[in-house]
Amino acid sequence: MTLSELQEVTKGLGMPGFTAKQIAQWLYVKRVKSIDEMTNLSLKHRAMLSEAYVVGAETPINEMRSQDGTVKYLYHTFDNHFVETVFIPDEDRGTVCVSSQVGCKMNCKFCMTGKQGFSGNLSANQIVNQIQSLPEFERLTNVVMMGMGEPLDNLDEVMKALEIMTAQWGYAWSPKRITLSTVGLKKGLQRFLEESECHLAVSLHAPLPALRRELMPAERAYSITEIVDVLRNYDFSHQRRLSFEYIVFKGVNDSVVYAKELLKLLRGLDCRVNLIRFHAIPNVDLEGVDVAKMTELRDYLTQHGLFTTIRASRGEDIFAACGMLSTAKQEEINKN
Ligand code: SF4
Repeated sequence: MTLSELQEVTKGLGMPGFTAKQIAQWLYVKRVKSIDEMTNLSLKHRAMLSEAYVVGAETPINEMRSQDGTVKYLYHTFDNHFVETVFIPDEDRGTVCVSSQVGCKMNCKFCMTGKQGFSGNLSANQIVNQIQSLPEFERLTNVVMMGMGEPLDNLDEVMKALEIMTAQWGYAWSPKRITLSTVGLKKGLQRFLEESECHLAVSLHAPLPALRRELMPAERAYSITEIVDVLRNYDFSHQRRLSFEYIVFKGVNDSVVYAKELLKLLRGLDCRVNLIRFHAIPNVDLEGVDVAKMTELRDYLTQHGLFTTIRASRGEDIFAACGMLSTAKQEEINKN
């Protein structure tokens, strides 16, 4: 809950105004696991709270560890549904990749989560719990909303979760430590840009509408040219960062023709491009490219003035591509 939601609860229970802040402190600063531990609340108030509420902290039910230190966790959400959360350590950084929905409606061709279909939105509780109950919480420096689901398709709950992470009464993290990744949804993009200061990463993957439509059906509803036009109205030259994610598929979007189109599309925008290697998924006729091709593409774009990096692939030995672990769990449940 956000502070204003806690204030409504405490008011409804006839508790003094300041107790909401005390509860927020117990939840987000001390990260207690039960209402009983909130010892500066009276016994009577703790009992009243316990009648209707619990601290929604649930530890992961499964994990897979990569040789490179990446850990993928599986969290139970509702019914027989699960989401994945990935912790990625990197020298002095610790990044958590958080999910926002169970499954996804966007059906991107290259994504395992998309193949699951959509089962439901996560509540702010279930989003924040992926961080709060992460065994590596103390090592976290960055959050990326890049896990399962499309965050702008569940924006009310995502915005609450972002508030909990950034507010002084919450984790008090700088929004510059948080990046939200989206395919770009008309309803939602503008609100996110207006109401949040977190970084934005747009899943681009193809600069031409016809190819993007093939890879990402969401292009039909809101084209990448419209998205870029909206982004041109915002200032990304200072603290806030705008990046474009580009998964490189062999023989599909890896030629200089597409690099030139990328340059055309993003001309004049303060942004960077992240090239991502594709993790093959079952039953999809897409392949990744080798390091040489990635480097060639990066160098071409950089030489033509577009700041471009290659994202290090992490946790390949534990199926780090989103949706793999939860799909396996779902299949196991369906079999039994
Ligand atoms: S890539 Fe993201 S938006 Fe596309 S189907 Fe997968 S989870 Fe959804």
